[in-house]
Amino acid sequence: MKLDRFYIDGDWVAPLGTGEMPIMNPAEDEEIGTLALGTTADIDRAAQAASRAFETFAAWSKADRLALLRAIRAKTAERHEDLAKAISTEMGAPITMAREQQAEAGIGHLDGFLDALEGQEERQRLGNGDMLVREPIGPVGLITPWNWPVNQIALKVLPALATGCPAILKPSEHTPLSARIYAEILHAAGVPAGAFALIYGTGPEVGDALARHPDLAMVSFTGSTRAGISVMKSAADTVKRVTLELGGKSPNLVFADCGAALEDRVRASVAECFLNSGQSCDAPTRLIVERACYDEVVEIARDAADNTGVDDPRREGDHIGPLFDQLQWDRVQAMIGIGLEEGARLVAGGLGRPPGLNRGWYARPTVFADVTNDMAIARREIFGPVLSILPAGDEAEAIRIANDTEYGLAAYIQTGDPDRAERVACRLRAGAVHVNGAGLGWGTPFGGYKASGNGREGGMMGLEDYQEVKSLHFG
Ligand code: NAD
Repeated sequence: MKLDRFYIDGDWVAPLGTGEMPIMNPAEDEEIGTLALGTTADIDRAAQAASRAFETFAAWSKADRLALLRAIRAKTAERHEDLAKAISTEMGAPITMAREQQAEAGIGHLDGFLDALEGQEERQRLGNGDMLVREPIGPVGLITPWNWPVNQIALKVLPALATGCPAILKPSEHTPLSARIYAEILHAAGVPAGAFALIYGTGPEVGDALARHPDLAMVSFTGSTRAGISVMKSAADTVKRVTLELGGKSPNLVFADCGAALEDRVRASVAECFLNSGQSCDAPTRLIVERACYDEVVEIARDAADNTGVDDPRREGDHIGPLFDQLQWDRVQAMIGIGLEEGARLVAGGLGRPPGLNRGWYARPTVFADVTNDMAIARREIFGPVLSILPAGDEAEAIRIANDTEYGLAAYIQTGDPDRAERVACRLRAGAVHVNGAGLGWGTPFGGYKASGNGREGGMMGLEDYQEVKSLHFG
């Protein structure tokens, strides 16, 4: 497989440079193709096309943009299985999960944006007689990571198109297959020439070129906090809008008042932490447990981890797959080693590959107990199937430990007491608080406090990120 074309100005075109890199399959650690890498010159070309397209696309009526989104929805549904297979191949998500969650996000977010756009007043009369007009901000640059590739692309490309902003997408250079299918979907749905571009490339070259480009009004980034800081600095000279969705170290507070539901709640919490092999920005990786149920919770978590299947992503089922590459596997191994050195108590998993899996980047579902919040395994994002369990004396201490982190993306609470759920949720410094396993609905804003980023993606707030607001005053 040779991905040697970029999508620019409505066509698949040859890159202006000659760089390329291998496409790897994490389950086998095998090269499955090559990928062309772009340069600043490719971004210039796409930015010129985007600026031209903006002149007409910005004037599209809301009805036309809604019709375009509906056409994208129909084409996404047609290619659902292709997307799932591509994601599973390129980053190792097990096929069932790739289908039901990863690819499904392309449809779910679309429904959230359709609802939001239908309900948004793009011209709004204020109580004082003035008029507010919401307008597209301009051509935008979009940079996405490899861990939920279609989810992240949908959260950026769709609101850009929904609001009339031409978009240049640089997906992760590690997940080019699903991005290519997504570009084919947009082409088939009738996105006008110049209103969407797909350029592969590395972060420091193509990603940075997007952040710096003077003709782009905004850059939206999802990825590591390290790269997000770099994007913000590179964007500063052009005063463009920057939105960032970054890392996390999300707390999950477990209270003894769960009663008979405790076992189910802890098993679901472990599964949520290990979902996508632990490679989710909002994974609940710090289990903060009230002492009254601590020993019981550690035992349930140990059993849940020991019974977590790890297997080939091509097989159907609810097992987890490999980590996505050697770098990630080495990082996870290093963090498990640090946990052992720091004196945390290993209760499940540990170093090395699971038995019987000698090829590919498989890691062992791992649980550490007796973790203290100053340990590196409680502070750093590990991005692997590694859970840290920390004891807390009471509710106040649990909240203090939960908030003692540089991140603030998500938080989770397990409790049988609805008053406590609301009281604790209001004190947690995080963009989303999930109570007793509830997920986020499509269209609900997603984003972080503190070093987890700024801005919110999804639904109405996701649209607003791509809009300027103009006030009109009539004499
Ligand atoms: P990464 O930061 O290495 O890469 C993300 C994207 O940024 C890639 O496209 C990459 O090429 C690009 N990039 C890298 N350096 C860049 C630079 N200097 N300038 C411009 N672009 C650059 O992250 P990753 O390893 O692909 O993804 C994992 C990280 O993403 C984790 O930290 C995870 O928590 C985070 N993440 C956050 C969210 C969220 O919504 N908050 C969602 C998914 C992943």
